[in-house]
Amino acid sequence: MVLQFMNRISTVHHWATIGIGFGLGFGTVTLWHLGKLIRDQLKPQRELHEVFMFNELRYQCLQEHRKHNQAGTKCVCTNEYCVDRLVDQIVQELGRAKYSIDLAMFTLNSVSLERALLAAHRRGVIVRIILNKYSSSYDLSAAISRMITLGVLVRTVTSRYIMHHKFCVIDGCVRVEQICQRRRRSFGPPQPTLINGSLNWTDSGCTSNWESMVISTQPQLVSTFEAEFNRLWNSLEAKKLPKLVQTSL
Ligand SMILES: [Zn+2]
Repeated sequence: MVLQFMNRISTVHHWATIGIGFGLGFGTVTLWHLGKLIRDQLKPQRELHEVFMFNELRYQCLQEHRKHNQAGTKCVCTNEYCVDRLVDQIVQELGRAKYSIDLAMFTLNSVSLERALLAAHRRGVIVRIILNKYSSSYDLSAAISRMITLGVLVRTVTSRYIMHHKFCVIDGCVRVEQICQRRRRSFGPPQPTLINGSLNWTDSGCTSNWESMVISTQPQLVSTFEAEFNRLWNSLEAKKLPKLVQTSL
């Protein structure tokens, strides 16, 4: 009788230990996630408002780069107009995207920027691109066809007027909210960012022309461009404007 009683106590004790252990483990994991959520929310938002110029001084550092390339050493370039640095600036911004990249671009065929867009697409960022379908020197390039094949969303404007925008909205607030609702999960706080200017994302635009570009995280600026992108994107989808049609691709 006493032995049975002792056995029962031992069993109860055993299960109680497991229960407490499980509870502690679960509690620790929950607290860790809660802490991460709070840390993410409290993380200071990046503030950036910078103007970049593409001009004839872009190749001042060319010799320096060649020298380092031949020696196999890293070149720390100090030329603020260096074409590599300027293109890399856009690549870095695209690399920061967590949810969405909305790009309205007259022409697009830069190899580096195409790679960055595809890399974002591959890591789950939803990339939408609006292009002007026809121009005297440009049609849907092979790069764009590849992007469409790989699942990037592309719509084109076909009109006798031109879609001359050159802007990109990264993680716009409205878009992020849509994506979070659809996926029912968040990937951390977004940093809405705008890239805008005269620069077409083409190799000649980056390497030959005189162009300007602004990168800004100013919320009102970003949201104004985002609203225009969404308006145009939706008009293409719904074919509300007679002169704008959705691509058949
Ligand atoms: Zn350089």
